[in-house]
Amino acid sequence: MSNTPKSHGRKTIRPTLKPRDLMEQAPELARAWRAQVITLFPEAFPGILGLSLTGKALKEGRWQLQTVPLREFGEGKHRNVDDTPTGGGAGMVLRPDVMAAAIETARATQHRAAPLIYLSPRGRPFTQGMARDLAQRPGATLICGRFEGLDQRVIEQFNITEVSMGDYVLTGGELPAQVMLDATVRLLPGVLGNAESTEEESFSDGLLEHPQYTRPSDWHGRKVPDVLLSGNHGEIAKWRRQQAEALTQERRPDLWEAFKNRDT
Ligand code: SAH
Repeated sequence: MSNTPKSHGRKTIRPTLKPRDLMEQAPELARAWRAQVITLFPEAFPGILGLSLTGKALKEGRWQLQTVPLREFGEGKHRNVDDTPTGGGAGMVLRPDVMAAAIETARATQHRAAPLIYLSPRGRPFTQGMARDLAQRPGATLICGRFEGLDQRVIEQFNITEVSMGDYVLTGGELPAQVMLDATVRLLPGVLGNAESTEEESFSDGLLEHPQYTRPSDWHGRKVPDVLLSGNHGEIAKWRRQQAEALTQERRPDLWEAFKNRDT
């Protein structure tokens, strides 16, 4: 049982761990999409990602998860990772030297083409397009902030890309990291059973998805649209497309504008 996490594609990267230790993990994982997460709360992973399709894919080795416990890179007896903001103000800031040590250790075993990303409310808003791009790469190294966030110099030093999960402030980057991994991992080959289900869903072609229905076809007097019961696949496709366009126009004028202007 002791090597269960390993057999499930999970591994902790410690300051003392040599790159060779990681190379020696199951050879079939060497090709798996590699997620690295630098965090003060490694116990939060895989979290929700250990369930359902993403959890199954993790066990099957379609992706692997390496947590990098930031605390273990801390300074001194108390493993300090943070200090007060220079210039004053509330809260604490994650130290650049401690974060740099964690980043360097993680990157030593990461593919070079895997981006280094800091989850941050100041970043570029995360989109389906970014998930699609990430899924094409060999993996990603994600940095979860806490407190007031990271010292600016470490962001510049490593040329870190900042990505936001939305215009609100969370207490840490762990939930955003899991959101980002969920959106990415489900696009990896073989993770979703039905390959078509990523082709037609929201954002795949710049539109929100059409309404979905299932049985019973009459529920509390609410009937499923007739066309969906017609068996006429051409008409069904046309209806769905119309619905998707109308819904996008009504709810998301920003997406609608982009959709109308694409490839023109
Ligand atoms: N003082 C910072 C917020 C820090 S919140 C500011 O005002 O910009 C603490 C950590 O939570 C951040 O370092 C970041 O990693 C994470 N976080 C909070 N909100 C987030 C969001 N909307 N998207 C991504 N990460 C977020």
